Amino acid sequence: MADCFSKQKRREVMSKIKSKDTQIEIKVRHWLYHRGIRYRKNCNTIVGKPDIAIQKYKIAIFVHGCFWHGHDNCKYYRLPKSNLEYWKEKLEKNKKRDKTNTEKLEQMGWNVFVVWECQVKSDFEATMMGLLKEIDKIKSMKEN
Ligand SMILES: [Zn+2]
Repeated sequence: MADCFSKQKRREVMSKIKSKDTQIEIKVRHWLYHRGIRYRKNCNTIVGKPDIAIQKYKIAIFVHGCFWHGHDNCKYYRLPKSNLEYWKEKLEKNKKRDKTNTEKLEQMGWNVFVVWECQVKSDFEATMMGLLKEIDKIKSMKEN
């Protein structure tokens, strides 16, 4: 695929992709909310600022755009051909940060989940049901 965007334009296009991630976050949050899950969003006081945090049960959920978070072997994660080095470095940095945050959270006893953009797009209901099952499992473990 030839890349016909200039550097400037490419950054513009990419920043629009980034803002779209929010749409996915909203979708995931609404789904959980309608099933009675209460959470905090973008909580600053928690490592990595999870998109969704259920503090009571130490559950942190990240909703990741596949491009920005470098989802391996995913069709949405394709590096632009122009300015390749710039993007490679930037996205590698994002990936590394995600990994570090997950490790830190887990060390503090958090349960970390990632919902990927491609899962939301291809099989939203199944993805969310899977997540809900995990949440229920943790809940019942902590309550018993
Ligand atoms: Zn993906």
